[in-house]
Amino acid sequence: MEIVPIPLLADNYGYLLIGPDSRRAAAVDCSEAGPVLAEIAHRGLALEAILSTHHHYDHVGGNEEVARAIPGLRVLGSRADRTRVPALTESLADGEELEVAGMRGRALFIPAHTSGHLAYFFPDDGPPSVFSGDTLFAAGCGRLFEGSPEQMMRSLSKLAALPDVTRVYCGHEYTEKNLRFARELEPENADIARKLERVQRLRAEGRPTVPSTIAEEKLTNPFLRWESPALRASLRRRFPDLADDPVAVFARTRELKDSY
Ligand SMILES: [Zn+2]
Repeated sequence: MEIVPIPLLADNYGYLLIGPDSRRAAAVDCSEAGPVLAEIAHRGLALEAILSTHHHYDHVGGNEEVARAIPGLRVLGSRADRTRVPALTESLADGEELEVAGMRGRALFIPAHTSGHLAYFFPDDGPPSVFSGDTLFAAGCGRLFEGSPEQMMRSLSKLAALPDVTRVYCGHEYTEKNLRFARELEPENADIARKLERVQRLRAEGRPTVPSTIAEEKLTNPFLRWESPALRASLRRRFPDLADDPVAVFARTRELKDSY
């Protein structure tokens, strides 16, 4: 399985998943039809399916147009978003398996950014890969539009429980700004400093910073580090009354990031 990031809109990523026969493909999060159809044509692929992570326009805006262009196209999304994902043909609940373009994967229900958000996990055909939409970003997490801090922590924990080597393909190129925020909270964290340097080099060359890995996220992502004594100490300097409780740590981190 080959994975090709497709930059869409201002800072979104869609992804092309090319199956083991190098001919059949699926797309994750198609906000615009044009660039996805162009990439398919350029590579001579047959697009069989779109996998939508959540209903926001900058993730599904191109579904209808691609479905019109390719008769028989499958559009997969969350069962909880049956009425919100355009052109949906198949809905999935937590843990349900899927097969697209010769690739087998599994849906993970990870609500909080939106109440129906899904990730797609592909364990085989190369290193395991997860498409995390706007829930887990490299060094960040999505805003809590339709969920609570506790719910987001459960969703992020589900992703963090995947194998450390899992490649993380997220929905936006926010990595550099996220890491600058992470460094402010944990200035002594060498993993964050090293990754920020690498990411700044990639961005200066105009290259994407995806994928990350679950192992890297555990070391550098403040939204997975609610147990970190350094992060807690740093938050306590800003919020002296901070309770010694993971939910409070997470919620305060999210609150700071909302205005960063
Ligand atoms: Zn979103």
